[in-house]
Formats: sequence, structure tokens, C-alpha cells
Amino acid sequence: MSFYSEGYRVLYIFPDHPYFCMSRLTGRLGKTQRGKGRGGTVLEHRLIIAENIGRPLRRDEIVHHINGIRDDNRLVNLVVMSRQRHYLISSIEATLNELDSLRKKLSNMDTSDLIELNYDKVDGGNKSIH
Ligand SMILES: [Zn+2]
Repeated sequence: MSFYSEGYRVLYIFPDHPYFCMSRLTGRLGKTQRGKGRGGTVLEHRLIIAENIGRPLRRDEIVHHINGIRDDNRLVNLVVMSRQRHYLISSIEATLNELDSLRKKLSNMDTSDLIELNYDKVDGGNKSIH
């Protein structure tokens, strides 16, 4: 059984699952079901990485989606890192995205606009002098 939460795929697992220790009480189903000693919820991308490296993940190990798509849980799109490194990577990605949108704005701008802007700045808009 699975559902989506904030764009992530969430799985519902039972105590006989080898990585049941990674499941949480929180979440739509976890809260009600695990409380009765039944199941728990786990983020699918975390479970995929855990199964790949052969051990449960610690809480401070973050699984990052390389292409930014939260439900693209193919192994090639997932990488595990510390919380600190994830913070750093996220900041760099945000900066790169900002630069990318600026670049797009610039490439859509007419070159004559740029020359005009530059001219106004240097000469205070007084073109008659030259
Ligand atoms: Zn991330």
C-alpha cells in the first residue's frame, strides 16, 4: 500500500519487514495503524537506498533526489548524504536555478535594449552631447 505526501511516495510496512525500524508513527496511516501494533509508514526513496546499501538508514542520513523530482525514485536519481551536506547542496542548487532563470531572461532580451540601458547609465540619458 502506498500514498503521496508532499510529492513523496510513502509506503506502509509491517513489523516483519527487515527495515521496519525505519518506519514512523507519523503520517496519515502510521499514526492510527502502527499505534495498534500493525504497520508504519516509510518514505519509499529512503527504503530503496537502505535496501541497496543493505542496512537501515539513520535519521541524520538524507536521501536527495538529484533531478529534484520527488517521486522519481530510480536508484540513479538518489544519493545519500549527511544533513549538513544536503543543506549545502540544496543552497547551491537554489543559486544555480536562480542563475539559470536570469540567463533565460537575458537571452530573451533584445541586444539593443542592453546597449540602450548601458548608454543611459553612462551618459545620464543625455544623448545630445555626443
Ligand atoms: Zn534533497
